[in-house]
Amino acid sequence: MKPKKLTLVVPAYNEQDAIPLFYEEALRVEGELPGVEVEYLFIDDGSRDQTMEVLRQLHAQDPRVHYVSFSRNFGKEAAIYAGLENAKGDYVAILDADLQDPPSLLPEMLHAIQEEGYDCVGSRRVTRKGEPPIRSFFARMFYRIMNKISSADIVDGARDFQLMNRKVVNAILSMGEYNRFSKGIFGWVGFRKKWLEYENIERAAGETKWSFWKLFVYALDGIVAFSTTPLVIASVMGMLFCMVAFIAIIFIIVRTLIFGDPTSGWPSMVCIIMFIAGIQLLCMGILGQYLAKTYLETKRRPLYLVEETDCDEADDASAS
Ligand code: UDP
Ligand code: MG
Repeated sequence: MKPKKLTLVVPAYNEQDAIPLFYEEALRVEGELPGVEVEYLFIDDGSRDQTMEVLRQLHAQDPRVHYVSFSRNFGKEAAIYAGLENAKGDYVAILDADLQDPPSLLPEMLHAIQEEGYDCVGSRRVTRKGEPPIRSFFARMFYRIMNKISSADIVDGARDFQLMNRKVVNAILSMGEYNRFSKGIFGWVGFRKKWLEYENIERAAGETKWSFWKLFVYALDGIVAFSTTPLVIASVMGMLFCMVAFIAIIFIIVRTLIFGDPTSGWPSMVCIIMFIAGIQLLCMGILGQYLAKTYLETKRRPLYLVEETDCDEADDASAS
């Protein structure tokens, strides 16, 4: 029987220092993966450093190393999609280049899929050691809110690091949406999933690509992509304000009938007008967010553009 193939998909953006370390570690772990053929697929997400040179060199020295290079930085989500699209393996794993997703978990993951009958093995870190406390706090809050308002099962601390079989890969590829939020997509597709837990590991080299602002926008994108609850909140708020206004009108009519109408209270009036205007703008903003995403979605732009690759199918893949 032909041995099963395992593709390691590695999104890399300015990772010239981390890639050699990653490759070394992955080669070591390969020794613990008997019976599968390993293929490497690096996605260069428009890096500005020597990442491409490093990859070309690796490819020359090990023909199992493949790469797809984007014409600019399209973001990790696009890189993951490109990776899944170009992966030829029966099993596909997504790993960060910085070794924060330890390849040493792969044997255990593979065992869960091959022997225990799971379709997908995800990983979650149980600690957030080495992360700024404010970032951890907002991350926790995001997961708590997200799980209340979305039907997709989004697990706190879940990484993009996971191993899947073909069934799951094809399911994820069938979701061709432009506004991609992998944590949601992975949860949304379902299938039998096992979770492995591990302690947070700090970057092997280079630095994180995620500023606080980038993470914040990412969180908002995630909410818009996987929940319409903000729209419901906006509507409920509208109804609530109508009710309050109605009660206030009756109160004022009755008061005027009893006590006459001394003209006073315009400062409070201004406050109320400002408050309501604020709420209205907020609701319009929420509406606008969804409209904007719909707008981008209807353009059907490609998720990424390839500049250079050694995978033959990539040309038609970029057109999807
Ligand atoms: N990455 C990417 N495109 C981007 C940002 C990040 O492909 O626009 C890759 C990056 O090279 C790394 C992985 O995504 O392999 C995770 O990024 P990072 O380590 O910066 O995120 P963190 O681990 O801090 O959440
Ligand atoms: Mg990292």
